[in-house]
Amino acid sequence: MQNTYDCLVIGAGFAGAVAARELAERAGKRVLVLERRGHIGGNAYDLPDEHGVLIHQYGPHIFHTANKRVFDYLSRFTQWRDYQHRVVANVHGAEMPVPFNLTSLELAFGREKAAALEEKLIAAYGAEKKVTILELRRNADPDVAALADYVYENVFLHYTMKQWDQSPEEIDPNTTARVPVFLSRDDRYFQDPWQGMPLEGYTPLFERLLDHPGITVELGVDARERLTLGEDGVTLDGVPFTGPVIYTGAVDELFACRFGRLPYRTLEFRFENYPVEFWQSHGTVNYTVSEEWTRITEFKYLTGQVKPECTTIAKEISHAYTGAPEETPYYAIINPENNALYARYQALAARYGNLYLLGRLAEYKYYNMDAIVARALELCDTLAEKGA
Ligand code: FAD
Ligand code: UDP
Repeated sequence: MQNTYDCLVIGAGFAGAVAARELAERAGKRVLVLERRGHIGGNAYDLPDEHGVLIHQYGPHIFHTANKRVFDYLSRFTQWRDYQHRVVANVHGAEMPVPFNLTSLELAFGREKAAALEEKLIAAYGAEKKVTILELRRNADPDVAALADYVYENVFLHYTMKQWDQSPEEIDPNTTARVPVFLSRDDRYFQDPWQGMPLEGYTPLFERLLDHPGITVELGVDARERLTLGEDGVTLDGVPFTGPVIYTGAVDELFACRFGRLPYRTLEFRFENYPVEFWQSHGTVNYTVSEEWTRITEFKYLTGQVKPECTTIAKEISHAYTGAPEETPYYAIINPENNALYARYQALAARYGNLYLLGRLAEYKYYNMDAIVARALELCDTLAEKGA
């Protein structure tokens, strides 16, 4: 029996959708995309809620990149709304910019003291520089050390405990480094040259990405029911499949968790609608010292939707992922032990010459959307070079 398809892609998030498009368009392949959920878009999926407010079902997604190839590529499938994300921390009711910056410094310490601290910080690190909280805490100057303690206590410690159930010292240092102390008055969350939101939302972007005669998408299908990874190789619906198989789900699940589950954090989103035009001061407010949620996002700031009569917010509460079917694994818990467990699964996958692990879940990494798009494009470059 012959396969109808040349390539199989599992998952229709950024990793799967970009790979499918590239394989169909650039390489002229017939691509089957299997997606477990009832919709495309992966965690970037958006939709209007019951009040007509455009929301992100799996958490707020703001696009930003320094990678021109990625920006140009996605710009084929969407126009952009210019949006620069700004976040404030709610510290005992007072709001200050996050990343903690020179404006936050002034709000926390008053103008005079802040000016003296600013001078010391700039002498130590340079103007417009980004310093991680762990690095700042190593500064021996007593004034800088007191400042570092303040930022640690009021911005990082409790938020990180809520998000990871671990302290900033215990988690991968690259994680807190995502939100450094910024010796600047630039109060944007990201400094990338290209940032914004897809003008009509993410889901239409995905619809266009996947709209190609070479691509067939089947929704509501768990690929594990159709795919077998046996001693002799991969089969799809019982027929040997020798073309590229790009898997973008969690790799432990692909092998029935035979070495144990890879640890993840999951999130609970509490969506609330209010009969006011805007409910909070910024797109996202981080609750860095109080409340059980880490942050609250108000989608209309992000999407620019004009809707004076109501607004929808989402509170994010982080939990340990148990693997229950109704839970989503959102964040890999990166540490040497978990990386070693991942490597065992990766080695299993490598036994299949045509199986490729791609994406935030499959690679067990903390990737933003742009990094995933870049990875997908690079994988398709490699496949094209191989003539696969
Ligand atoms: P996913 O989007 O998770 O897609 C994987 C798909 O595979 C899913 O649809 C899943 O259903 C499907 N799948 C899994 N297993 C199977 C199976 N067995 N059979 C069939 N289908 C399967 N990035 C940014 O750049 N900016 C942001 O502001 C941002 N905010 C974020 C906020 C939150 C709360 C989270 C969790 C992430 C955020 N990200 C953000 C990161 C972003 O979500 C990811 O980079 C991106 O979604 C990863 O795409 P992916 O295709 O690898 O994975
Ligand atoms: N973080 C923090 N306080 C904040 C913002 C971030 O402690 O106000 C830490 C926390 O550990 C978090 C990490 O920095 O998990 C990365 O934050 P980011 O906003 O990049 O997380 P994401 O948007 O990916 O959830």
